Amino acid sequence: MNKKFETRCVHVGVDKDTAYNSCTTPIYPTSTFYWNDLESNSGYDYTRSGNPTRTALEENLASLEGGTDCRATSTGMSAITAAIQLFEPGDHIIAGHDIYGGTYRLFADVFTKMGFHFSFVNMGDPENIKNAIRPETKGIWIETPSNPLLNLVDIKEVVGIAKSINAITIADNTFMSPYLQLPFEFGVDVIIHSTTKYLNGHSDVVGGCVITKEEEHSERIAYIVNAMGIACSPFDAWLVLRGVKTLGPRMEAHQKGAIALAEMLEGHPKVEKVYYPGLTSHPQHELAKTQQKGFGAMLSFDVKEGRKLAEQIMTKSELFLMAESLGGVESLIEYPETMSHASMTEEARREAGISENTLRVSVGIEHPDDLVQDMKKAIEG
Ligand SMILES: *Cc1c(COP(=O)(O)O)cnc(C)c1O
Repeated sequence: MNKKFETRCVHVGVDKDTAYNSCTTPIYPTSTFYWNDLESNSGYDYTRSGNPTRTALEENLASLEGGTDCRATSTGMSAITAAIQLFEPGDHIIAGHDIYGGTYRLFADVFTKMGFHFSFVNMGDPENIKNAIRPETKGIWIETPSNPLLNLVDIKEVVGIAKSINAITIADNTFMSPYLQLPFEFGVDVIIHSTTKYLNGHSDVVGGCVITKEEEHSERIAYIVNAMGIACSPFDAWLVLRGVKTLGPRMEAHQKGAIALAEMLEGHPKVEKVYYPGLTSHPQHELAKTQQKGFGAMLSFDVKEGRKLAEQIMTKSELFLMAESLGGVESLIEYPETMSHASMTEEARREAGISENTLRVSVGIEHPDDLVQDMKKAIEG
């Protein structure tokens, strides 16, 4: 039976207990596994290299993205670290200028010092990617929609450019989750996630994963995750596996709230601009409709009165907790200027379109009416 997405969320990989037939996956908190004799063991020997609870999560996530293999890592950043090991020092990689701040820091500082080369361009116009190509360009890094202003990258078009120069594409699919966007369908080679966000969905674990579909990539990622020692613990794998079972219904609930909130904000006299791909006013609304199965639940908006009103909204709202991160069941609100995007220079923030008036919201799964009412109250003071 070719099972549908929501069914795979609940069942794939889960069944690991032949001893007692438990309906959920046991946590195997063991560092090592004993051998039967010199030739044979149960398939596991040491938890850094493999653990049945982690395998359950990896099978599940590989299935949801439509890949053949997955490695679950300790954080999203360690998943990105593993993915970059598909390249060699000297290789050049093109990324968006508005990628996740932690990814930017890892590329521009840590990996640059190790001899990898990066160009950061505005991927909204594919010409910028073409202009950045060098003879040693081996990869293009795709993150769509971007953070915090929800700019989209045309995945199919970027994959086409990459293929024309024999480069590979890696997509960070954290913001959409596989419920709303399947980058492999557009020819992307490798997908990474911060499972900290929608995949786990309950703000109680940090984790990541790398999903592959080519034998060569799978082997290299498995080797690197073991060699570098960046796999996630059995406990963390169990938490993410527990969370991912409700991914579909959660994303539907997240989106209902996001649409209601975006519409209220767009009509509010104290709001200058709303950034949400689900609004017809979003310049890439049509692209969102073709490459995404929904519009997600991240949105940003600019207020008219700057920092003071921004602070009032964050401190007065009851339901939107003033915190970084995203993708959990509870709504969060934050100020990119001094919080999520503080590691960028002011100049870089302005160039990316982030101002002192910008607020970012991760819409949770509370009732949309309550979210709208609470936000209105916070804006009106
Ligand atoms: C949070 C995030 C990351 C980093 O993940 P961690 O789990 O915090 O290490 C990477 N990319 C995106 C898009 C994110 O939102």
